[in-house]
Amino acid sequence: MSSMQGSAVLRDARRIVVKVGSSLVTNEGRGLDEKAIGEWCRQLALLVRDGREVVMVSSGAIAEGMKRLGWRVRPHEIHELQAAAAVGQMGLAQVYESKLRENGMGSAQVLLTHADLADRERYLNARSTLMTLLALGVVPVINENDTVVTDEIKFGDNDTLGALVANLVEADALVILTDQKGLYTADPRKDPEARFVDEAAAGDPALEAMAGGAGSSIGRGGMITKILAAKRAAGSGASTVIAWGREPDALLRLTRGESIGTLLVAQTAKHQARKRWMADHLQLRGAVSVDAGAAVKLRTEGKSLLPIGMTAIEGEFSRGDVIAIRDERGVELGRGLANYSSVEARMLCRKPSSEFERLLGYVAEPEMVHRDNMVLMYS
Ligand code: GLU
Repeated sequence: MSSMQGSAVLRDARRIVVKVGSSLVTNEGRGLDEKAIGEWCRQLALLVRDGREVVMVSSGAIAEGMKRLGWRVRPHEIHELQAAAAVGQMGLAQVYESKLRENGMGSAQVLLTHADLADRERYLNARSTLMTLLALGVVPVINENDTVVTDEIKFGDNDTLGALVANLVEADALVILTDQKGLYTADPRKDPEARFVDEAAAGDPALEAMAGGAGSSIGRGGMITKILAAKRAAGSGASTVIAWGREPDALLRLTRGESIGTLLVAQTAKHQARKRWMADHLQLRGAVSVDAGAAVKLRTEGKSLLPIGMTAIEGEFSRGDVIAIRDERGVELGRGLANYSSVEARMLCRKPSSEFERLLGYVAEPEMVHRDNMVLMYS
């Protein structure tokens, strides 16, 4: 792929996930680097004003917590690391909140785990919350919920979480800011032949061999977790850039089409990736039949499935399960993730969304299956 195409990836990206690692956020462990965080927040605000949506995934809770607790050496006991994360997260959230506010932006703290995103119901819940925050123009600031899980403490320093979030919000791009300029073919400190990689295909197995070395002592992620994160992000069609976090205006320049760092290009388009994901990962739990009007809306108008268009519900399913959508003759139109369980769906059948609250006592979403979580048979 030529670098012309490559530079267009970030320029055209509408929804971007930015991940920053501990050593950058905490200035190599010397406490939160407010100036650096302020710089990223300034750029994020400009990107939002430019009509883009941005999500920040930031580590640094453990490093900041260690500083606040007066610990010079990273403890080995996981529960101590978790305690440090809980202490440090207070400071982390505070700095992001004030820096985003200084730049006229609202912010929201979201703590997630890998398991949350593997569970379909929690996945839908997290997705709805993040999509709502983005629609409100608020910048979500995400970290792992280190109190309840330890995936990113053990390895990754949130690289994997960044990719999972890119999958979750179906981002166009994941930008991993780190303390290196990007990816080299070998360790440049040891091998004079090492060359910088400007661009490669995400998921290319040769990349994993290049990135063998370990990370810095402050964060947990080396290059390898970044390469694997890029592969995972590409699974939902997001390309990844690995760039130096102190590069002036890195985010603004990337979105102007400048080539900075290493670009790992997703090989599958977003809608194709979503189809494959639905086909690969999900087992059918039930079905809904829809009337002729709803069938037309789905087939030709690109709309979501609303309960008012449903005529019958088959099977027992929960929120987040995959269901088939059939037309009046029983022909499968498509499949998607149910926002309501089969029990709720039977109550909502043929009903307008204005009645949901009276019928259920709450409203999750107006759609039975949102368009973004749906794959049509012949699209
Ligand atoms: N989620 C952790 C943090 O923000 C990961 C970083 C680490 O393991 O040092 O501190």
